[in-house]
Amino acid sequence: MNMIKYLILSLLIISSSYAQTNDAGGPHNYIEQQFDVLEYSPVITIEDHKSKFIRGEVTINLEWKSISDDNVFNFHYEDLSIDSVFYDDELIDEIILTTNSVTEGILYYSIKPTNQNKQATIRMKYHGTMTSEGGSNDWGGVHYSQGILYAMGVGFFNDYVSCTRHWMPSFDLPSDKALYTGTFIVPDSLMAISNGKLISKVDTLDGMSKYTWTMGDDVAATYLLTFAIGKFAEVDIPSEGKPPVKLYMYDNQNSIASGKLVFKLVPEMITAFEQFFDYDYPFETMGYYAASKGAMEHQTLVTMSQSQIVGKANANDTMYSTAAHELGHQWFGNLVTPYDFRDAWLNEGFAVFTEYVWIESKLGKEKYREELMKLRSTYINTTAAAEQHIPLYNFHRFSKNNYPPTIYQKGGLILALIRDIVGDEVFRTKMNKYLTTYENANTTTEQLIAIFGDALPQTFWDTWVYGRGYPEVDITTFQDDDNGYVVVAQRENEFQTYKFELNYRLMFDNENKNQTHKITKAIDTLVFPRSNYFKGVEINDNLYLYKVMSNNRLTSVEEEFDSSINLISNVIDDELEINFGKAANYTIEIVTLVGKKVLIESGDYYGTININLSSLVAGTYFVYIRSNDYNTMKKIIVR
Ligand SMILES: [Zn+2]
Repeated sequence: MNMIKYLILSLLIISSSYAQTNDAGGPHNYIEQQFDVLEYSPVITIEDHKSKFIRGEVTINLEWKSISDDNVFNFHYEDLSIDSVFYDDELIDEIILTTNSVTEGILYYSIKPTNQNKQATIRMKYHGTMTSEGGSNDWGGVHYSQGILYAMGVGFFNDYVSCTRHWMPSFDLPSDKALYTGTFIVPDSLMAISNGKLISKVDTLDGMSKYTWTMGDDVAATYLLTFAIGKFAEVDIPSEGKPPVKLYMYDNQNSIASGKLVFKLVPEMITAFEQFFDYDYPFETMGYYAASKGAMEHQTLVTMSQSQIVGKANANDTMYSTAAHELGHQWFGNLVTPYDFRDAWLNEGFAVFTEYVWIESKLGKEKYREELMKLRSTYINTTAAAEQHIPLYNFHRFSKNNYPPTIYQKGGLILALIRDIVGDEVFRTKMNKYLTTYENANTTTEQLIAIFGDALPQTFWDTWVYGRGYPEVDITTFQDDDNGYVVVAQRENEFQTYKFELNYRLMFDNENKNQTHKITKAIDTLVFPRSNYFKGVEINDNLYLYKVMSNNRLTSVEEEFDSSINLISNVIDDELEINFGKAANYTIEIVTLVGKKVLIESGDYYGTININLSSLVAGTYFVYIRSNDYNTMKKIIVR
């Protein structure tokens, strides 16, 4: 275009590096950096929002943790062109592109400081046509649709997750939270919105308006930044206390009316969460804006799907669980943020849990439980197998999807289970401690575990957060003269043997009794004294994840041997001795507690016979003896 631009471009060399000491880390591999970004202040001009063309300059204030010749500032950008970079006003002539990151092969860029000052200001001028992550579930990055240009902070199927790099060069990983003030210069027929509150709107003389938004004193992870440009109708939702709740709806009557209806309970949601977690709403403002995609929990300015808003309004759904979910993220994800996305379940599990906190607050504890049990059923019957029983923590190894439903559903369920186990009071105290300890900072699953401390054994976390799958169990019930028995056998799987609890209704002839069975072994038997006829069990499902595959009562047989047949001993070393008082043709079957036949013999027997059991594994078995006249069973223990 002109000579000056050519010259500037020619000064900026992009060179490749293969080995670097100051690795940027990746979305699933946090590595501590030598720098700490304090603030991002982009100034962005968009003349034609349909074109997605941007001209920007971002000022990055940072602090070095220590001064070293090896220091580099690492950053990301995607499909943008960097025109120039200044380090404390000194023009930088080289950007190092690292292509051999040990961290998942994700490209990043670096510049070297030009001085040894502890604090520095980096300015980058850039331009380009902003893009999105692309692909079949195109989500993260910048979109133009339905008259709105807007940015979504995370991607679903890209390998880098955080997508702010599609509109602002930044250290775009969740571990470095920073202040944010964004200025957007747009045609004066349009409005620009971004995180935080609007501190100025200036109409320039050339038909443009300049909007400046700021998060004030609150820090945000880069993936929680957003902006949107279009014709919005601003709607205030009446809220008695703080914070103000604002909507930015499409500028038509149907959108405005829909928004007013479906978001009208947001102030109540805020109060519900504040009370439940004993922690005030963490930011100064709260808002939602409508766009073609959603939802995404951008800090203080959530992106919501326009079609969903209208759909919810048509269904008169003022509970609007998605609005509650994204609001819940303001505490879980935004105020307290994982270091990297191995811990994404901490965001999504908690946000799902807050949906149910909202249900409980509005509709009561019974409804809370009822809805959780539906979620449990969805997870166990639909999601788990489809997603190969991925674990909550570091699921990425098993799945290409950055946000698999498992981390939402199982995450929410496990948190509700923890609440059940430790009790409301302890749960609340621990949650409050988690929020106050890690507010405006980052966290990990290990830190959450440490918060719970002795209240939950490590095996719990190993099973349900780090571990995969859930037990599939066969239940067999029977009785003898004195006792009732419930035998729970976990089917073998490739993952583990589980510790969990089953709640039974023990059914007797003339009464029912509730009983909890703490399962600790692959085959675990509950023995209880009985005086009445024991008919079997009904399962009262709890929030542990398990699936009952069969529940059998041994009733098809007489429960005592006919007096003409006598087992010499119930405790067998290797030979089972049976005395037949009557000659007949008998079938002898030895069956495991879960109904697997391990031995069948038949013949004409009379008097004492011996059956060799040395091939059997030690354990409890049933012996069935059948003839034309008899159909009997007895329990034996092989040791
Ligand atoms: Zn979420």
